[in-house]
Order: sequence, then structure tokens, then C-alpha cells
Amino acid sequence: MYEDELAELMAEMGEPAYRASQIFKWLHSGVKSFDEMTNISKELRRKLVENCCIYSAAIEKKLISSYDGTVKYLFSFPDGEMVESVLMKYHHGYTSCISTQVGCKMGCTFCATGKSGFSRDLTASEMLAQLMAEQQDMGIRISNVVLMGMGEPLDNFDNVIRFLRLVSCENGMNIGMRHISLSTCGIVPKIYELADMKLQLTLSVSLHAPNDQIRSRTMPVNRKYDIGKLLDACRYYTDKTGRRISFEYAMIDGINDSIACAEELCRRLRGIIAHVNLIPVNTVNGTGYKKSKREALQRFIDILAAGGITATVRRTLGSDINASCGQLRRAVSMDKAEKGDIS
Ligand code: SAH
Ligand code: SF4
Repeated sequence: MYEDELAELMAEMGEPAYRASQIFKWLHSGVKSFDEMTNISKELRRKLVENCCIYSAAIEKKLISSYDGTVKYLFSFPDGEMVESVLMKYHHGYTSCISTQVGCKMGCTFCATGKSGFSRDLTASEMLAQLMAEQQDMGIRISNVVLMGMGEPLDNFDNVIRFLRLVSCENGMNIGMRHISLSTCGIVPKIYELADMKLQLTLSVSLHAPNDQIRSRTMPVNRKYDIGKLLDACRYYTDKTGRRISFEYAMIDGINDSIACAEELCRRLRGIIAHVNLIPVNTVNGTGYKKSKREALQRFIDILAAGGITATVRRTLGSDINASCGQLRRAVSMDKAEKGDIS
């Protein structure tokens, strides 16, 4: 709940308004029960227990990468649904990559989450709960959040917006919008809606192909919102917010990494304030996709650079524990990966 919604609840319960701010602070410090709210009267705590509940995420499993210390969590919620979340340490602090849905409806062919189907949306509380559980478990403070775990954030728009507003509250976790990235496969009408909100977050768009032929094959969402419509929405987004868009491009050997693809991508992105993030595709069993060769990657970067587009290769973290992009799922088994493959 937002603080003003809590204030309304307090009014209904005949309590003074300042209680709302006390309770809000407790909730966002990560308490799991009302009894921990020691500056609240016993009587009010009893009323809260009777009428309300606090959502938390239980740690089912935890894997730590021996390569880079990245931690992958499997969380469960009271209804038994599970999601994964990944905590990464950078020189500037901790970044958490959280899930926004249990599974995903979008069915991208290279993604483990997409292959596992969809179960339900997560609430804003369940998104916050992932962050709080990680902070408590590690005894750290998270400074950056990326909505790049399981699920398509813009397919769960209202809950995601509520989460963004809550996580950035001064009385809450106080993680500013500039420290938050949201990645989408391209739900065009929602990009327009997000643009109109003028939030200062970083928008990442999973492009992964320079033309509709390739993109529709790997990303079914493209059959509804093609690249032309998607890039129009991206232009609108940068115009409205003044924020540069980050385009994600998973480099797949022999699929989207040719010279012609690089040249076409340059043409398509002309005039958009953009940055391209190249991700050598991570292995997901059953897809048959392989990472692009090193030369293909370098050639791609050079062609983009010549076209005036900056591109960087994303560092892969947590690959020994299947914690990299596209490898998250409602894992029943979270055994250590063999050669970074999952089935
Ligand atoms: N649903 C959102 C956010 C979650 S996926 C989206 O698709 O943008 C996070 C990122 O991982 C996306 O850019 C996605 O395209 C990418 N991804 C998925 N599978 C991948 C794989 N096997 N290798 C590399 N990146 C992958
Ligand atoms: Fe869903 Fe993103 Fe995976 Fe596509 S890449 S299936 S949109 S989580």
C-alpha cells in the first residue's frame, strides 16, 4: 500500500494519521510480522493482525557463483509459486535483478523463462519482498534494481508501476528511479503509457534482430508489434523523457550476427538516442542456439561504431549457476549447472 492508502486505513480504524508513516517505515525495513513494530500500540497491532497481512518471500534455495560471487535465489510465496532473483556485486554497490511474473507469456525461443510457460503476475509486495529478503540474507543494502528477471514487466503494468513508486519512496527503500532499469520485449502501447509518466528510469528494449523476418521467428511478440511500431514507440519515449534507450541484442551464431544484420541494425536505429548492449546468447538446452563467434561479435561492434552507434558487450555474471540473462525459471531443481547448460 502507498502511505496515503495506509493513512485511509488508519482513519477507518480510528487511528491517528501519523501511524501510517510509522507502519510504512516498518514494512519497508523488511519486518515479517506486526509484532516487530515496537512503537505501535498492542491494540493496533492486534487489529492489523486481524485485518492485514505482510507479504514476504521465503528463500527456498540459494546458489553462489564461484566465478564472481553472484548469488541466485529461488523464492517461494505462500501459494507455493516460485521465482528466481539474482544479486550481483559491482564496484558501485549491489544490483538486484528481480522477477515480475511467475513465468512469462511471451514465448521468446531463446529464453528459459519463456519456455516454462506462465502462471501468474507478481504483486508489488512480492517484488519488494525479493529485495528485502536479499538485503536481510546478505546484510547489505541494494543500490540498483533491474527488472530483468522472470516475466515481462509491461505485461504486469499496474503492479510494476506500484512497485516502482514504492521502492523509490523516501520513507521506503529509497532507490531512485535513476538506479532502476526496466527491460521489455516491446509491448508497444505500454511503452507509450510509460513514456507519458516521464519516470526517470532506464528503459531497455529487447530487440535481438534487425528485421521482422528474424524477430518474428525468435520473438512471437513481434507478430503483433513489429519493429517499425516498436521503434516509433521508442522515439516517442526518448522525446518525452529525454532518456536514452538501451537496446538488448543477444548474439546468436548464424541467426542474427551477420554483416548484413549489423548494417540493417544501423539503418533502423538511425535518429534514435540509443545504446546497444550485445549479449552473447546464453545456453538454454533445447534451443539449439549457440553464442556468436568472437570475430562475429567484434565485426558487429565495428559496423555499429562506424554507423555512429555505441555498443558494448555485456559482462556475463553467474554463468556457473545458470543466473545469466534468459536462464531463470520456476526451477524445481536448482542444481549446479554443468557447463552452463540447463534443460
Ligand atoms: N521480459 C523482459 C525482461 C526479462 S529478460 C525482456 O524480455 O526484455 C532479460 C533479458 O535477457 C532480455 O533482454 C532478454 O531478451 C534476454 N535474454 C533472454 N534469453 C536470453 C539468452 N538465452 N541469452 C541472452 N539473453 C537472453
Ligand atoms: Fe519473456 Fe523476456 Fe523471456 Fe521473452 S525474453 S520469454 S519476454 S522473459
